[in-house]
Amino acid sequence: MIHLKINGQDIEIKEGSSVLKAADMAGVKVPALCFNEELGHFTSCMLCLVKDANNGRLFPSCSMTSTEGMSVITDDDEIFEARQTGLELLLSEHIGDCEGPCQVACPAHMEIPQMNRLIASGKFTEALKLVKRDIALPAILGRICPAPCEGACHRKSLDTSVSICLLKRFVGDENDLHPYDPLPLNGKKVAVIGAGPAGLAAAYYLQLNGFQAVIFDKKDKPGGMLRTDLKPELLPLDILDKEIDSILKIGVVFEGGKHFDALTFQAIREEYDSVVIATGIHFDEIKKWGPTTVAKGIEADLHSYATSLPGVFAIGNSLRPSRLAVRSVGQGKEVAYSVAQYLACEVPKGEPRLFNSHFGKLLKSEFSEYLKESDGKERINVEKYKGYTEEEAMAEARRCLHCDCRDIENCKLKDFSGLYHANQRRFMGTERKSITKYFAHRIVYEPLKCIKCGICVRMTSKYQEKFGFSFIGRGFDVVIGVPFNETVEAGLAETSEKVAKACPTGALSLKD
Ligand code: SF4
Ligand code: SF4
Ligand code: SF4
Repeated sequence: MIHLKINGQDIEIKEGSSVLKAADMAGVKVPALCFNEELGHFTSCMLCLVKDANNGRLFPSCSMTSTEGMSVITDDDEIFEARQTGLELLLSEHIGDCEGPCQVACPAHMEIPQMNRLIASGKFTEALKLVKRDIALPAILGRICPAPCEGACHRKSLDTSVSICLLKRFVGDENDLHPYDPLPLNGKKVAVIGAGPAGLAAAYYLQLNGFQAVIFDKKDKPGGMLRTDLKPELLPLDILDKEIDSILKIGVVFEGGKHFDALTFQAIREEYDSVVIATGIHFDEIKKWGPTTVAKGIEADLHSYATSLPGVFAIGNSLRPSRLAVRSVGQGKEVAYSVAQYLACEVPKGEPRLFNSHFGKLLKSEFSEYLKESDGKERINVEKYKGYTEEEAMAEARRCLHCDCRDIENCKLKDFSGLYHANQRRFMGTERKSITKYFAHRIVYEPLKCIKCGICVRMTSKYQEKFGFSFIGRGFDVVIGVPFNETVEAGLAETSEKVAKACPTGALSLKD
């Protein structure tokens, strides 16, 4: 047996074991991309760098054998920086969108490509469940949203954007709008002041997460500007009432006819565990309640919406005036994270922000690649104020180019890039290569997302694929592909799913 120290902790390990293994035994997770438990080390990504405490030298822990008396540091500023630089170099050649540009542009961050796939395959209830994770009011927003997502849609460079807003409306209209049961009440009460889009959304997500949400509004009925400022042909009252009712049904309490001044606001703060201000523009009144204000509204942290008053958050038009109801609805979702963090005695930080690889506009040469899995037909237009039929919705959803990455949930490159705050642009050149996509068996292969970790090469060799994957070319031009100009289908004849699951990025991913 060998004895060594990992971050000062004594470890005893079998002779011949790697330092990575010793760290694992010490309960320390050292990041690695090219290491694979089944295939061993390859030492190409250099993410597993650690430091020899005796001489300060950095070395890759996956290929270094543990020796008697060794003392290893797995994390400090220098190691962090080395790993960050390693990731930035990998990202400089990495061409892919983690999230579709439509999702990035949506102020509520709705998972649009996945919604489109679910609609295209007729899974309407699943589509509603997905939409309601981000948008509390899909039937309403499907009618009134100016759809910034459609402005960012890649399909626009080809013909016209996918009709995302009408698809969301279809999902809302098609179902009973009540796909989730709330968690049991946890004993904490949150007051939401204002029953417009922001307040309704905040109350919905708070209640779903086990908080008793009580909405106060000076009007007798909830809805705010949705009830007063919109033409009935644009937003019929029965749709508004049905969707608001779906929020009250999960246990949210509404108290109308309630006016606030400095005294009643203070009383609410004392009675409730937290308060969310979602009043719209009633700036002069709110100033007297006590939160610090700036020229346009209440001053609050941009991510957490925390105001200068502890436990008090502000969202929607009380922060700054905007006609975009979807922004208010998105903030309603996000503030629920902050309130939950505050009530768990954490510093409120809001919804976690994840790393997002992004390459910009599609090149003309890429249209045919993206059309490989979507319908080339023109956009399905309908008469003003009308929605899609089932057939129309499915056909329109099939126009989506699926610009998001299929491996977003399992991509180690994305996870580590987030963890190490990697900047994708730091080493990136101005010109980029053209994206290609290969569909074979149940997988997609996108070479420009490959980090050349060699896992697929080693795995196809181990499982004796006839052709397998191989390193092709030399130096900087080396690529991963199938030798003898064979197809990806032939290269991964027996092992496609196994290899896709082992790939640490979305270069090889399962299609569904
Ligand atoms: S491979 Fe990973 S980092 Fe790249 S686009 Fe896909 S999820 Fe994002
Ligand atoms: S084509 Fe689909 S995935 Fe791509 S941006 Fe448009 S809606 Fe989003
Ligand atoms: S395609 Fe192969 S070499 Fe490229 S990242 Fe995936 S497993 Fe690694």
